[in-house]
Amino acid sequence: MSSNAELMARRAAAVPRGVANAFPVFPARAENAEIHDVEGKRYIDFAGGIAVLNVGHRHPKVAEAVAKQLEAYWHPCFQVMPYEPYVELAERLNALAPGDGPKKTIFLTTGAEAVENAVKIARAHTGRHGVIAFGGAFHGRTMFTLAMTGKVVPYKVGVAPMPGGVWHVPFPNEYHCVSPAASLHALEQVFKSDCAPADVAAIVIEPVQGEGGFYIAPPEFLKRLREICDEHGIVLVADEIQAGFARTGKMFAIEHSGVVPDLITVAKSLAGGLPLSGVIGKAEIMDAPGPGGLGGTYGGNAVSCAAALGVLDVIESEKLCERSSALGERMVSRLRSMAEEADFACLGEVRGLGAMVAVELVKDRETHEPRPDLAKAVSQHALQQGLVLLPCGLYGNVLRFLVPLTADEALVDEGMDLLAAALRAAVAEA
Ligand code: PMP
Repeated sequence: MSSNAELMARRAAAVPRGVANAFPVFPARAENAEIHDVEGKRYIDFAGGIAVLNVGHRHPKVAEAVAKQLEAYWHPCFQVMPYEPYVELAERLNALAPGDGPKKTIFLTTGAEAVENAVKIARAHTGRHGVIAFGGAFHGRTMFTLAMTGKVVPYKVGVAPMPGGVWHVPFPNEYHCVSPAASLHALEQVFKSDCAPADVAAIVIEPVQGEGGFYIAPPEFLKRLREICDEHGIVLVADEIQAGFARTGKMFAIEHSGVVPDLITVAKSLAGGLPLSGVIGKAEIMDAPGPGGLGGTYGGNAVSCAAALGVLDVIESEKLCERSSALGERMVSRLRSMAEEADFACLGEVRGLGAMVAVELVKDRETHEPRPDLAKAVSQHALQQGLVLLPCGLYGNVLRFLVPLTADEALVDEGMDLLAAALRAAVAEA
């Protein structure tokens, strides 16, 4: 088999640099929370395909569901002939999503496509155009979701102008000087300066920001957003693409607040590695676009829907919400005890909702000044140690932990040992 270096040379010649690779490593096989590369090196996977693998790589029950579907049919195309796995998955998600009233779900293929569709549905329902998103948010790379994504570098460089009708409000983030009150004040300013509330179709928020840095929206803040949306007839959209499907200890992160959003966007861990996304929402809103107004050739592909049904079974049967809370506590307490070591003064806030865990790397624990250079170095050293770990954050200084919820404690502890070694190496070098 070719080496990583040989494959990277072929990749560089054949694939544009715009789609970046965090690491120059080619997997040969993967199982649960472990990856083996083409050179036989083993890695513990704390990236989970960027929040896609809450049930791990190639979960046997998901593989079985996929294999069964492959024997039946692959792609009648829902818009040509509907099929049961799509309908069954919609029924199950409608029942699982917060809120008592009737709900409906449409399936698409990527996360960005789900967000695009949520905006279309909100516009069709309200007859309005405005969309409010948050600083540091990530909603996708297609042109409209790119306008909603609240980070310029690297996403928006060289591709301006963005589509209009999108305004950003700072995400409530006390650690970096934005109180919930300041965020709400900024929202009032947008209503005054940019777009009257009567022209706003949707407010879109990640209950826990993913790419933005694993910042948790305070429940009181989400409740206030709900009130503002109710007051002005605005559709409240929870983007659960990174935080959903047991990652935070609940099926959906918004459940921690008790707030019922109008629409929820889902993708990533929904189908355990097969491409599938969706919008779940209140039936009367979901039915706003007319027949033919929504869809996509591959949206709700039958094999992906079968995989997702398998994922939901695994989350239930292996009690992954409870497991997520337990694993999260374990990782948070390990990180907090590491932060007490003299060598690790660079560790700032450690936070987590369930197993959506992160730590800030800072120059100074008083000022919280970010250290993106160190986060990058730790992630590269971690790879050498045999740990796949990704940085994230508006300031690029957050290490995020997205270990499969099916990983056992011993493997998670081993991963945390590798992190400690990587941190030590990166600090020594800095
Ligand atoms: N929303 C959130 C919260 C995300 O984390 C992402 C992907 N990182 C997206 C939307 C876009 O998903 P995709 O890359 O599948 O288009």
